[in-house]
Amino acid sequence: MWITVGIICAVLLALVLKYIFTTSGPNPFARDTREPVREILTKKEKNKVLKQGFLASKVPENLDAVVIGSGIGGLGIAVLLAKVGKKVLVLEQHDRAGGCCHTFTEKGFEFDVGIHYIGDLQEHKPFRCMLDQLTNGQLQWEPLDNPYDWVVIGPPENRRRYPIYSGRTRFPEELKKCFPGEEKAIDEYVRMCKKAGRGIWLLAMLKLAPTLIAKFLVYTGLCKRLSYFFEMADRSLTEVVNGLTENKDLRAVFTYIFGTYGNMPKDASFSMHSLLVTHYLNGAWYPKGGATEIAFHMIPIIEKAGGAVLVRAPVNRILFNSNNEAIGVSVMKGQEEVHINAPMVISDAGIFNTYQQLLPKNLQAMPAIQKQLSLMKNGEGGLSVFVGLDGSKEELGLKADNYWIFKENNYDELWEAYTNGDREESAKNVPMLFVASPSAKDPIWQERNPGKSTVSLVSFASYEWFEEWKDAKVTNRSPEYKELKRAFIDGILDVVMDVFPNITRDKIEYVDAGTPITNTHYIGAPKGEIYGADHGIARFSPELNATIRPQTPLKNLYLTGQDVFLCGLPERWPEPSPVALSSSNATCIWTPLPWPRKPNLLNRSSSSYNSKTYMCRFVLGLRENGIRATV
Ligand SMILES: Cc1cc2nc3c(=O)[nH]c(=O)nc-3n(C[C@H](O)[C@H](O)[C@H](O)COP(=O)(O)OP(=O)(O)OC[C@H]3O[C@@H](n4cnc5c(N)ncnc54)[C@H](O)[C@@H]3O)c2cc1C
Repeated sequence: MWITVGIICAVLLALVLKYIFTTSGPNPFARDTREPVREILTKKEKNKVLKQGFLASKVPENLDAVVIGSGIGGLGIAVLLAKVGKKVLVLEQHDRAGGCCHTFTEKGFEFDVGIHYIGDLQEHKPFRCMLDQLTNGQLQWEPLDNPYDWVVIGPPENRRRYPIYSGRTRFPEELKKCFPGEEKAIDEYVRMCKKAGRGIWLLAMLKLAPTLIAKFLVYTGLCKRLSYFFEMADRSLTEVVNGLTENKDLRAVFTYIFGTYGNMPKDASFSMHSLLVTHYLNGAWYPKGGATEIAFHMIPIIEKAGGAVLVRAPVNRILFNSNNEAIGVSVMKGQEEVHINAPMVISDAGIFNTYQQLLPKNLQAMPAIQKQLSLMKNGEGGLSVFVGLDGSKEELGLKADNYWIFKENNYDELWEAYTNGDREESAKNVPMLFVASPSAKDPIWQERNPGKSTVSLVSFASYEWFEEWKDAKVTNRSPEYKELKRAFIDGILDVVMDVFPNITRDKIEYVDAGTPITNTHYIGAPKGEIYGADHGIARFSPELNATIRPQTPLKNLYLTGQDVFLCGLPERWPEPSPVALSSSNATCIWTPLPWPRKPNLLNRSSSSYNSKTYMCRFVLGLRENGIRATV
């Protein structure tokens, strides 16, 4: 039996490798493009790059591709194409580029929307090399403190604080100090997380391999046999941790990071969870100068190749010819439609926006499109509170770390009661909260904003709670809406001031909340989703992953971004597999594949990419366009 399975696997592997490596084409990573690091510019200077408004006259001629949406998925693929000389136009509906990586400023305080910490960014690691290449070495990363996360559980009179340290051995060792007698459970948890994390290669393979091979792997049940990731994917996080320990606080500490992908433990796949746990094992980082630096350093690369990134450019439909091949997009400029032609359309706008809003009705009804939609569902709505404070990080007791604060250790029950509860009551009772200070993480914040600080608070909220106000003007919604927001803000601030006693009401110079309908407006999330499509157990079925891929059922139309692969700036590619390469949203359309370690261009041409840099092969989902990347 095992010999047969082995032979089948070997044949499959040979076919996949042949399919992938027989394509020739230019390579976006052929050259180490890092340049000496330049000084971080002021907001005004950066806005000249990030806020270039759409005008038909600014659309470059003879485009090679048009990308809908300027999140990391959209900009990432645009940079890759630009690096092989393609002229790409990125169109963003908001008034600035970046998607979840954009920032905004109110009363002098700059706030990040959606980047708080990223793992796997050690200098020699492939994911770091990849981000360096995508930003020509201009994006710099600042490590967070260690412990980088704190799990805070319980009411004020019985509050327990558990530090989470990075470090492959330190992470479990420190947990063992907090939970004596639970050594076996902790070791087993770490072992399972690492093993499941490593198995993610097959998920990428399903999205990359020829459809027939992917389907063969799915329908023969081989996925579960070949990868522990898929073996564990339909087991819930609650089920797994409950099987490891009876200690309720330890169960809560094992599961606390579910907020980074948005499913309560009983609905979360253990495999998804394992990716996040292992993602931060080697530390956590924050972009120096704030999240806005990410898009800011990618756009010039697109422009250098003749492309452009234009904002206030809502795409209202994708254009098709009579053979149902995508031939461009239409952008609303006031009441007028501007048509833009391109031989390739890549959508970073999310699967629901793309299929339900941008396709003509007849194509939307295609069985293959309906099949994809039926496999996905909208993710949980996000709620963010942005606080501008008078006081330095020292005065306010803020550090370069994150707090995950929970009312108690029974997350599943807390979440159920909150999301199914009466919204006014739930507003006063937000049971889980992420707290971070972007200003404390950014080493240049204080020199630019002396004596001021910011705090970002993130939780979840039901879209339906706010839906009645969705059509009102974003800056002028009704008093009832503002009152509901105020209730959330007040409840949340009470918790924060209790945990951070140096933060008091009189220090708050600015506070406002973004609800799910705010997300709809600014990041185009149709149901206010915090992380795009739902990342629950169903998302990890082999069938779904073989079906939802960069290629769509429509010729010349591709998907990129968090709905194709997974949410997060990077999605981890685990060690110690030979492919220690993180894929990211940007890689959704160009997926990394294993290749034996050997010296490569990057480490030959540069001193800081040392011999630990892995030989990796990137294979573009766009292989039919003859582009292949090898690092
Ligand atoms: C509050 C929050 C905190 C987060 N924290 C972290 C973190 O700490 N670490 C981490 O790694 N990840 C984090 N994430 C997740 C990460 O930011 C996202 O997964 C990732 O940035 C998504 O990138 P994307 O390109 O897929 O989509 P997006 O960034 O959502 O980009 C999609 C873009 O498409 C645009 N668009 C939509 N429709 C149209 C249209 N019709 N025409 C033109 N443009 C359109 C939208 O406006 C948007 O700009 C966080 C997310 C949030 C919301």
